[in-house]
Amino acid sequence: RINTIMQTCFFAISGVLPRDEAIAKIKGAIQKTYGSKGEKIVQMNYAAVDKTLANLHEIKIPGKITSQIEMPPPVPDNAPDFVKDVTAMLIAGKGDEVPVSKMPADGTWPLGTTQWEKRNVGLEVPVWDEEVCIQCNKCVNVCPHAVIRAKVYDPKILENAPDTFKHTKVRGKDFPEGWVYTLQVAVEDCTGCELCVEVCPAKNKQEVGKKAINMMPQIPLREKERENWNFFLEIPDYDRKELKIDTVKGSQFLRPLFEFSGACPGCGETPYVKLASQLFGDRMIVANATGCSSIYGGNLPTTPWAMDEKGRGPAWSNSLFEDNAEFGLGFRLTIDKHNQQAKEMLEGMKDILGAEFVEKLVNAKQKDEIGISKQRERVEELKTKLGKIDHPDKQNLLSLADYLVKKSVWIMGGDGWAYDIGYGGLDHVLASGKNVNILVLDTEVYSNTGGQMSKATPTGAVAKFAAGGKPLPKKDLGMLALSYGNVYVARVAMGANDTQTVKAFMEAESYDGPSIIIAYSHCIAHGYNMKYGMDQQKRAVDSGHWIMFRFNPDRLKEGKNPLILDSKAPKIPLEEYMYNETRFKMVSKMNPKAAKEFLQHAQEQVKLSWRKYENMAQMEFSEKTE
Ligand code: SF4
Ligand code: SF4
Ligand code: SF4
Repeated sequence: RINTIMQTCFFAISGVLPRDEAIAKIKGAIQKTYGSKGEKIVQMNYAAVDKTLANLHEIKIPGKITSQIEMPPPVPDNAPDFVKDVTAMLIAGKGDEVPVSKMPADGTWPLGTTQWEKRNVGLEVPVWDEEVCIQCNKCVNVCPHAVIRAKVYDPKILENAPDTFKHTKVRGKDFPEGWVYTLQVAVEDCTGCELCVEVCPAKNKQEVGKKAINMMPQIPLREKERENWNFFLEIPDYDRKELKIDTVKGSQFLRPLFEFSGACPGCGETPYVKLASQLFGDRMIVANATGCSSIYGGNLPTTPWAMDEKGRGPAWSNSLFEDNAEFGLGFRLTIDKHNQQAKEMLEGMKDILGAEFVEKLVNAKQKDEIGISKQRERVEELKTKLGKIDHPDKQNLLSLADYLVKKSVWIMGGDGWAYDIGYGGLDHVLASGKNVNILVLDTEVYSNTGGQMSKATPTGAVAKFAAGGKPLPKKDLGMLALSYGNVYVARVAMGANDTQTVKAFMEAESYDGPSIIIAYSHCIAHGYNMKYGMDQQKRAVDSGHWIMFRFNPDRLKEGKNPLILDSKAPKIPLEEYMYNETRFKMVSKMNPKAAKEFLQHAQEQVKLSWRKYENMAQMEFSEKTE
């Protein structure tokens, strides 16, 4: 850790303690902190201390600045005024100098400002080989930072393309003949996590070990790729009404409205958040519980929630662990009330606006992108009509007209919120019958606050408050939720089955009632290289630790069993999943006997759990419920 090195420097220079005594104490602390993780980790930390001392050199600071190098401004010149006046000042560490008059008076904060940060943290970035690529868009799907994107477009647009801008003929019959496909990376926003390269299924047959995207040093690419990225942004998005957005490939042509967040490189939560923003972001309202997602979702000075080319984007706000579900329910109730008021006013103005027009507005089916788009057109027409008439309700209806378009309420947070502190509220909202979507980003531990055990932590995992490994099983939140019978419930793991994930998001959103998606999210707290996060998700599913399913109450109406098991019977021993992660491995180092018992218990739980779900999925539901 960097603090080991900085601490060594501090005590070596400052003279607060005699140097040798201070270093001995640092090494003592290393033994105490990391002893349980094994001798190798301890020795690596000792080596960090010794190398720090060996390489500690005094640097003489010149009396005046002689460097000719200009520091680039914190944000580019073409950034909006707010970003230049406020965001850039905060990035530069000069927040104290921002006058109050520059702050938004109502407390709202402009969207889409992470795009101006250009953190340049990825030492290596993916480079696309258009000859090898099969255009599956899997890399786009998993990118936690919305950095790698795909577009399909008319090749006429290429007339002004930079000379290194890549494209190739688009594959598949769903696009116009002759159109082209580009996969572009925003290299200045890439964290170099390599998740995209790991999931890429296309191997280069000419060069062993290479794929359709390969990591290369960022600096030599930076200037050219900046130009390419800016050109790529100018290419119009494909019409979302024409895309098969219920597929992985189709959904990944949708513009992400959650981008370049400050989550850890390779984070397992953000691909789900990004996916929701692509599918529903242009009419989405998010209640975000405290936790990692509230930090990377709304940390100053920038926000990753963004807007599309029409200026539509998710409205986002954060609430507490203990009341976030109710906070989101409040959004739903308010939206429904506004919608009802708008409809009542429309009925009262039927004679002026036209009965047929009002009937269409009030009873619009907004089941898909086409239906929603048509309703948006009607609302625009309504606003034009209202502009030409005189009526006491005119202003009120104008202010509520947008609520006639279907809104998508999302209540999000981690397992600490959903399983523990906010569970009472979450259960209350599930029982309300209201049309809300709950997304649980399950890292099986309190990630943001430093790795405390939650009720989602599995047997045998080490966490704070479970230093010797958690002796009890993980709570089955999915089973609790589906016991209501009228709640849509899905358990997903993108790395194991990305198609199932997209399907679950689509079904949950279209279900007219409460829905909950519990999403397996790999995390740095699990203790392994995050580039293998999606592989590890697959192991979680293959071992039976994470059983994927969808429970859709709508299937009851067709006399079908609402539960669909999307997992197959466990096919690898649980050990193969668990012992890839330090959180489980640690116990086997500290206490091999306990580790063996945990593994045995956990394996028994897997068997029991699989039997339960398998039996439920096989039940006969042919008798119609309506
Ligand atoms: S390396 Fe990571 S951040 Fe960069 S494009 Fe790939 S998945 Fe995204
Ligand atoms: S995952 Fe590989 S094959 Fe698929 S779109 Fe990305 S680069 Fe192409
Ligand atoms: S701590 Fe875990 S969940 Fe939080 S941002 Fe990092 S990887 Fe993601």
